[in-house]
Amino acid sequence: MAWDPDLGEEINLNIAVLSGKGGTGKTTISANLALALQGNYIDVDVEEPNGFLFLKPQIDHREEVLVNYPMIHKDQCKSCGRCVAICQFNALAQVGKEILVFEKLCHDCGACKIVCEDQALTYGQRSIGQIERGIGNSIHCSRGILEVGEPMAIPVIRQLLKNSGEGTNIMDCSPGTSCNVVQSLRYADRAILVTEPTAFGLHDLKRAVALLRMFLTPFGVIINKEKQEENQIRQYCQKENIIIIGSLPYRKEIATAYSKGEMLYHHPQYKQDFDQIAKRVREVFLWN
Ligand code: SF4
Ligand code: SF4
Repeated sequence: MAWDPDLGEEINLNIAVLSGKGGTGKTTISANLALALQGNYIDVDVEEPNGFLFLKPQIDHREEVLVNYPMIHKDQCKSCGRCVAICQFNALAQVGKEILVFEKLCHDCGACKIVCEDQALTYGQRSIGQIERGIGNSIHCSRGILEVGEPMAIPVIRQLLKNSGEGTNIMDCSPGTSCNVVQSLRYADRAILVTEPTAFGLHDLKRAVALLRMFLTPFGVIINKEKQEENQIRQYCQKENIIIIGSLPYRKEIATAYSKGEMLYHHPQYKQDFDQIAKRVREVFLWN
């Protein structure tokens, strides 16, 4: 739980961790920060969830993510084509008298069933992924996994986050500013942008900042792989009045620890860094 000094009580807080681009160290920071805050870690990067490689939770709960898809009952279908005409996602097509269903394109909007006057269309269910939950490093960990080849991550993200649990939830989101990130932000109270001091880092940071400003989500920046205190990210943040929550240095040992699947928080030197970042997160997010 996070302490709200204004309310004088513990509150739930969902903190989305984003990065404008991949490879900034978003998962490393999310997992270690969750530990430093003694919060819950949620891997929302459902197309490539890798936070469990570090937190190594013991899975105690698994559930399927089921979505609807239309089934055509040929004996009742009059081939009128109304269902095909109404579908905005090209999930239905008519070839001669036959109605073809492309189930992976179905967005489960329900329109085709409404327009079918012959009760020739019903819905079936199919699995597109799983949710896993467990305890790792003494904190609650959960993740969504989208099946390989499935194009739509949103139902997995929705099911994962709607039962995110109490306390401070660190949401390790997909990189970039795709619709997966937009969906995740609908559940976020605050956000942290992880970036690196390179031209690419700055370019993609600007896009992520624009997105968060559109959502009116309070946010701060963590600079990863920082070599010197004077860099283009700090200049940009100063100009845009963006809070820098903290930074991590550019060090070979960090990359080595990452490649071995180790938590930086278990290294005394970096534990201090993450405790400091956690303190700043509390200050910045509960007073803004
Ligand atoms: S609306 Fe119903 S009857 Fe018409 S083509 Fe579609 S499934 Fe067949
Ligand atoms: S439920 Fe909606 S998206 Fe799916 S096939 Fe029917 S009309 Fe298309």
